Amino acid sequence: MATHDCDSQPGLRPYLDARHEMLAHLEAITGSDTLALEHSLNRILADDIHSPIDVPSFANSAMDGYALRAADVTDDVGLTLIGTSLAGHPFNDRVGPGECVRIMTGAALPLGADTIVMQENCRSEHNVIYPQGPVTEGRHIRLPAEDLAQGERVFAAGTRINARVLSVLSSLGLEQIYVRRPLTVALISTGDELKNPGELLAPGDIYDSNRIGIGAMLERLGIRVIDYGIIKDDPMLIRQAFLKAATEADALITSGGVSVGDADYTKQVLEEVGRIGFWKLAVKPGKPFAFGHIGDCPFFGLPGNPVSAAVTFHLMVRPALATLAGETLKPTPLLQARALMPFKKSPGRMDFQRGMVGTQADGSLGVVTAGAQSSAVYSAMAEANCLLHLEQDRGNVAEGEMVTLELIDGLYW
Ligand code: AMP
Ligand code: MG
Repeated sequence: MATHDCDSQPGLRPYLDARHEMLAHLEAITGSDTLALEHSLNRILADDIHSPIDVPSFANSAMDGYALRAADVTDDVGLTLIGTSLAGHPFNDRVGPGECVRIMTGAALPLGADTIVMQENCRSEHNVIYPQGPVTEGRHIRLPAEDLAQGERVFAAGTRINARVLSVLSSLGLEQIYVRRPLTVALISTGDELKNPGELLAPGDIYDSNRIGIGAMLERLGIRVIDYGIIKDDPMLIRQAFLKAATEADALITSGGVSVGDADYTKQVLEEVGRIGFWKLAVKPGKPFAFGHIGDCPFFGLPGNPVSAAVTFHLMVRPALATLAGETLKPTPLLQARALMPFKKSPGRMDFQRGMVGTQADGSLGVVTAGAQSSAVYSAMAEANCLLHLEQDRGNVAEGEMVTLELIDGLYW
């Protein structure tokens, strides 16, 4: 893989270009399991799902009211009430001319009836029902297969089973679901300065936040994490950890050590024990992101700065993991919002600034910064509900200009 040059910062790969190339070098894992439906949340469908039944499987009422024949309804003529149809307790006789049946939402439509009239639109006197106002034939009836027809493809292989998908799978009566096996990812933090929560900080130390934060994102994606802990800035220890992880996991994610500092060994070791695909993206934050392989194991080297790590995880690693897991990702919807303040931006790298977007009084979207935009300031990342997509070649954004953004709340992070 050759590295590209872009005008202002030689050696930096434009983001979409790098992503495209990375995905072309990844293949889905093999291996699938059959799981009980209730254990399949967050797994990826290994096969298309076809509906074994019509949903709904019988005509039923969408309202509480009366089932009748629309042709029988004329001004102030009453219909004789001959029974009741409740959900789970159908009325087993026929509705004949001049008759009606009391019916509740979800109850089966009795034979002979073709229309439901809401109870709010009926007057009742001694078992005789008087529908008020005009009645339209077929009204308030849910038809068989109106939602899904037997044999119809409901979900394609590659669909992630979220709570909504799970709900539909349940409505089909499926007990067992054929899903891809979950990915196993090895997670490594590198840095002599890093400490675990609860440990005392010596001068110059900081707490490791990347491994916990990225680990949480992986967990929310249904991925099994092998936690390699914190590895010191020692090429021999890093080499050992990389080689071991590459045999144990479907992918290896590291943070730190990918810049050009004196203690940055990640890229060097990757070159020694594996092969580097590319290094350095034309993005901000996250420029030093590295991608490669150790043997067959894909390698993702996140920058150490926590914001850079999270943003490059989202931009690069999330789609890569989807490809590995056999998941079909839907395109991210991009929105346009008005900048309610100026945003600083230099041409050369695509800038994913952290923002707060909201609906204005006139209904349009407006965005402000979520706080300091340094890649070391994670609090603004936690505050943000969107990432701005400021194009690689653009400069400053003036107040009032339109900008592109993506929503990030409610995702996996
Ligand atoms: P590096 O990429 O190793 O040069 O690190 C860049 C910056 O990120 C430095 O300020 C590091 O201390 C910080 N950093 C590296 N790894 C972590 C981590 N796991 N959690 C929090 N900060 C980190
Ligand atoms: Mg470091």
